[in-house]
Amino acid sequence: MAQMRTPIESGVPDNRPFLHPALLKNYGRWRYHDRPRPGVLHHVAHSGDEVWTVRAGTQRQMDVYTIRKLCDIADQYAEGHVRFTIRSNIEFMVGDPAKVEPLIEALTKAGFPVGGTGNSVSMIAHTQGWLHCDIPGTDASGAVKALMDELYTEFIREDMPNRVHLSTSCCEINCGGQADIAIIVQHTKPPKINHDLVANVCERPSVVARCPVAAIRPALVNGKPSLEVDEKKCICCGACYPPCPPMQINDPEHSKLAIWVGGKNSNARGKPTFMKMVASGLPNNPPRWPEVSEIVKKILYTYKEDARSWERISDWVERIGWPRFFEKCDLPFTKYLIDDWRGSRANLNASTHIRF
Ligand code: SF4
Ligand code: SF4
Repeated sequence: MAQMRTPIESGVPDNRPFLHPALLKNYGRWRYHDRPRPGVLHHVAHSGDEVWTVRAGTQRQMDVYTIRKLCDIADQYAEGHVRFTIRSNIEFMVGDPAKVEPLIEALTKAGFPVGGTGNSVSMIAHTQGWLHCDIPGTDASGAVKALMDELYTEFIREDMPNRVHLSTSCCEINCGGQADIAIIVQHTKPPKINHDLVANVCERPSVVARCPVAAIRPALVNGKPSLEVDEKKCICCGACYPPCPPMQINDPEHSKLAIWVGGKNSNARGKPTFMKMVASGLPNNPPRWPEVSEIVKKILYTYKEDARSWERISDWVERIGWPRFFEKCDLPFTKYLIDDWRGSRANLNASTHIRF
């Protein structure tokens, strides 16, 4: 018989020591589950055991006091076990239905809304931003806070045609993921190079190799080894900035935000889909990013009105077609949404402008 692999430090840790005892006992042996109310899941195992899970939204980036508060709630009102979902919600498991209401009350009182299940707008998956990462062009958590304040009721209700996953990404190249609606940084000018620093800070061959359109080449500037960018080729992706910070791409005016629509990772009812850009050049306007929130809400509520039951945003757009999507959402279709990268002959089917 094949040997079980032992967990290693760099691999996924073994989750069994942290599971609620009822989940461990019935692992993979569940008969059915339902949702008694938004924010609560009810699982019934073949053994007859039942587990109620209460899901609450968190701010994802949490200080130690907030984590302690959540742990105290888990000890006092639940059964001492929690887990986090992929969208930064926290879940508390209990084996007794009488514990559900007091738990919901304690969470709500402490400021954690209960919801995010089924056909709701779940917490926005947001990236780390300035707190942990060295390349962001905006504060992802700020845009999330501003938007979730306005979408609070859609989190605690299950009123959407299907679930809605939102994401933010504070650079163009990494964490954004495929979401129903995503807010993603958009650089609009090529990087500015500080030639005095390049030789000391950057490993030039790896920076040259990093550029997806081969726009960077080694150069001698003022007698020092440096780099130069062919600005006609550059697609302003920002991929050169992480390995070479002297190639500054972030700009208070020219780093904008874009909105992308129609991505999903699930295989339910249809294949996974890539999201496509539908609004570009929005101002990166802290602390409340009103221009971004307005467009996201317009898309979201048009989808809510117009989609059929169980259609994800990608299914809805696929049925009505992209031209109708732009009309219904009052969004202008501009040249900036056209994928004119010379490699696009290989990915035309992934852009909004042409289908074949
Ligand atoms: S989206 Fe980019 S900038 Fe933001 S945390 Fe991820 S890698 Fe860093
Ligand atoms: S921003 Fe992107 S396309 Fe432009 S030079 Fe850097 S890596 Fe190349």
